[in-house]
Amino acid sequence: MSFNGSCLCGALRYTVDQPLGPVTACHCTQCRKISGHYVAAAPADWENVTVEGELKWFESSPQARRGFCPNCGSYLFWEEYDGKVYIMAGTLDGDTGLTMDGHIFYADKGDYYRAGQALPCWAQDRGDKEIEP
Ligand SMILES: [Zn+2]
Ligand SMILES: [Zn+2]
Repeated sequence: MSFNGSCLCGALRYTVDQPLGPVTACHCTQCRKISGHYVAAAPADWENVTVEGELKWFESSPQARRGFCPNCGSYLFWEEYDGKVYIMAGTLDGDTGLTMDGHIFYADKGDYYRAGQALPCWAQDRGDKEIEP
């Protein structure tokens, strides 16, 4: 089982050679700051991840760092120095077959949205065709 991912500009590419578990959304303040909203990620073992291209790290706390593309700023990885890396699900290429299983740090979320709320899901831009949530 293998997954491919990349940043927005394409300078950074990675491959994950293992099955990926559920995707979990994180609403903590740090994740909201770095992404502009909230993130969704799936854990992998670093030893199964191959990265091509320059990866820049930001140490967001003494226990963890966040990896991003220095050219386009895409946020791809979260690491806690425990041998695991959390892959930002939005950077995976194509269909993933993964499912999101829940929301963490929901008490820290922004006040402008609610997870699970029945909201219109437009296929493309606001006002376009609505599709199933
Ligand atoms: Zn990039
Ligand atoms: Zn977080």
